Amino acid sequence: MSILNQQISANITNNKLTHQIVIVGGGAAGITVAAQLLKKDRNLDLAIIEPSEKHYYQPAWTLVGGGQYQIENAVKDEQDCIPNGAKWIKAYVEKFDPDHNLVITRDRQEIKYNYLIVCPGIQIDWHLIQGLKEAIGKDGVTSNYSKDYAPYTWESINKFSGGNAIFTYPVTPIKCGGAAQKIMYMTDETLRKRGVRNKSNIIFCTPGAKMFGVPEYSESLDKVIKEKNIEVKFKHNLKAIKPETKEAIFTVNTGTEIEEISIKYDLLHVTPPMSAPEFIKNSKLAVQNGSMQGWVDVNQYTLQHNLYANVFSLGDVAGLPTSKTAAAIRKQAPVVVKNILSLIQSRQVNEEYNGYTCCPLITGYGKVIMAEFNYENKPISSFLLNPTKPRYSMWLVKRYALPWLYWNRMLKGEPFEPDILRELF
Ligand SMILES: Cc1cc2nc3c(=O)[nH]c(=O)nc-3n(C[C@H](O)[C@H](O)[C@H](O)COP(=O)(O)OP(=O)(O)OC[C@H]3O[C@@H](n4cnc5c(N)ncnc54)[C@H](O)[C@@H]3O)c2cc1C
Repeated sequence: MSILNQQISANITNNKLTHQIVIVGGGAAGITVAAQLLKKDRNLDLAIIEPSEKHYYQPAWTLVGGGQYQIENAVKDEQDCIPNGAKWIKAYVEKFDPDHNLVITRDRQEIKYNYLIVCPGIQIDWHLIQGLKEAIGKDGVTSNYSKDYAPYTWESINKFSGGNAIFTYPVTPIKCGGAAQKIMYMTDETLRKRGVRNKSNIIFCTPGAKMFGVPEYSESLDKVIKEKNIEVKFKHNLKAIKPETKEAIFTVNTGTEIEEISIKYDLLHVTPPMSAPEFIKNSKLAVQNGSMQGWVDVNQYTLQHNLYANVFSLGDVAGLPTSKTAAAIRKQAPVVVKNILSLIQSRQVNEEYNGYTCCPLITGYGKVIMAEFNYENKPISSFLLNPTKPRYSMWLVKRYALPWLYWNRMLKGEPFEPDILRELF
């Protein structure tokens, strides 16, 4: 037995709620990693702690907002997603005690583990924009970042009869960095079809200084913006909404000072600020300072915790310098699986994640830039095509292939590489 395993065994008593592997969060990451582990070894004693009865395919929410997908088709019962052989503990985790290999739930269950996988996703900080909670869901204020409002986005686009349509991006890391823009391009096209584009200003407000983090994709988006006659306001951070006067209040970084300005809106799509969930931020598992503060403190290659060797993290909550997407999880899950199995077998942890992520940038109906990249921040392509171009084939992948692959391959722990689609396109 390795020193690590001896330490773990010494810490574990004969408590009923003891599992060899405990996964916190049964979303995209938790289910994928559980299914892959059990495919490798049916005898693993594995529990998933997940409070929600429902499992959402969030990448479809953008399509719901754009009128291309029904919200009820983007959800399944969590029970049907839990892989055979895994135990579902329906509870909220509230605390971690990694020095004693212990997870504590809101209903006071204490669950011990030999190995812990932390993947409860990201927290949406709606409250950080003053007035948003009160304003959202009516009078043209909406967000695809909630299943409750994505259908209202489509309703609002169709009701819009002219004026300012504003799309915002926050100052924090978010899941799917492109989602704030995708809906804007679909809105542009819908307004053109409805004959009201000439009476409307489409405005993108972002605290950043470019359209996307990878320069090559950013250049492609600059062309899209120009073609569509969209106004971009860089260095603009949404701070408050005044629904009574239909004003969006931004702080603007001029380089020398921070100004506050107001822009009238008729349609306002908000991408809210996000952060690690509070119970992660307040735990010993979080990075304590620096740019990754609050996210789970893992090695960016092995996904193993930097202080607690029997803890791993993946998905949106992991402190990794790459874009947070379900596509990233596809490449992270096999790394976590191999490294945990290595630890169990007292072997070295040496499988590495390269930062792969992918954001299918919808630039119109029937057009997607499949923006794949990794830690090097350079475009790469699973499809052996120039990835910086909008393509109809990639729209078909986003609209039809990826949802099917998510439910039927990824969540089942089956190998799922988009390059298997190469032959089709
Ligand atoms: C509008 C939108 C568009 C997107 N578009 C794309 C796209 O085109 N391509 C792409 O790849 N990705 C996209 N994404 C991102 C993708 O959905 C996420 O990156 C992915 O779902 C993250 O998986 P996760 O398991 O880390 O988190 P989630 O899937 O959010 O799952 C987290 C789970 O943890 C559970 N949980 C939370 N708190 C606790 C707790 N205290 N205790 C126990 N469990 C807890 C939650 O209930 C949830 O089930 C999009 C997301 C949105 C919202």
